[in-house]
Amino acid sequence: MKSFLLLLFLVASHVAAETNPEGVEVKKSRLLLLPASTVENSAAQQYGQLMRAAQQKNALNQDPKQLDRLHRIARQLVPHATRFNKQAQKWTWEVNLISSKSVNAFCMPGGKIAFFTGILDSLQLTDDEVATIMGHEIGHALLEHGRARMSEQLLKNIGISAAAIMLNLGQVSAELLAQAANLAVSLPYARRQEADADLVGLELAARAGYDPRAAVVVWQKMSKYAQTAGRGQPPQFLSTHPANETRIKQIEANLPKVMPLYKKTP
Ligand SMILES: [Zn+2]
Repeated sequence: MKSFLLLLFLVASHVAAETNPEGVEVKKSRLLLLPASTVENSAAQQYGQLMRAAQQKNALNQDPKQLDRLHRIARQLVPHATRFNKQAQKWTWEVNLISSKSVNAFCMPGGKIAFFTGILDSLQLTDDEVATIMGHEIGHALLEHGRARMSEQLLKNIGISAAAIMLNLGQVSAELLAQAANLAVSLPYARRQEADADLVGLELAARAGYDPRAAVVVWQKMSKYAQTAGRGQPPQFLSTHPANETRIKQIEANLPKVMPLYKKTP
């Protein structure tokens, strides 16, 4: 019985690629051992802790103008998110701005977005550029890359069998989950996941009325910044997001799929 359930679960978790009549094509086919709700709860806790820590240092949402901008861009991107993940409709989206020189931004599972002032200031990002970065990060959340990685980390590092996780989640302690979530946030994603997040970002930006061509500029700025920032302090975002030719080429190759969407917007 148990092995039957296991098989059923594995089959069910290998869902086919989302079909999209227009726009980009991305795959959602990984071993998602952990339930989405478990991953989202764990992410929400971690996010809450991070924001409280920032607040204690007076580093949370200190720039109302920039924060307004982030909120406005998120409000325009989020309605299109369900194209890539229907569950996103039920997410409690959050956007916060952390005062820090760190060149970084992320969206944790369940729609918990954070931008660091460092990425806005160092790269002098325009609205279009912010939208493609935010779209990319939202893409990771929608395609459940964090969930996939947390599932992998639990299996790999903690050595719990797949069956144990699936059939008796109660045995996975909150501590182990937090550990997996930590690893999931600090490690780079796979190249394929990065590429897919780029595509989702392009489409979300385009549908929201932001010029998706800005994505190319973002990665050019990012790579230039990395060269001038010196070896001592590589920007955090770049350690998980290599700004290379392949990435830029893939983005350029996919622009024709999203430009019509952008042009349709008022
Ligand atoms: Zn990414």
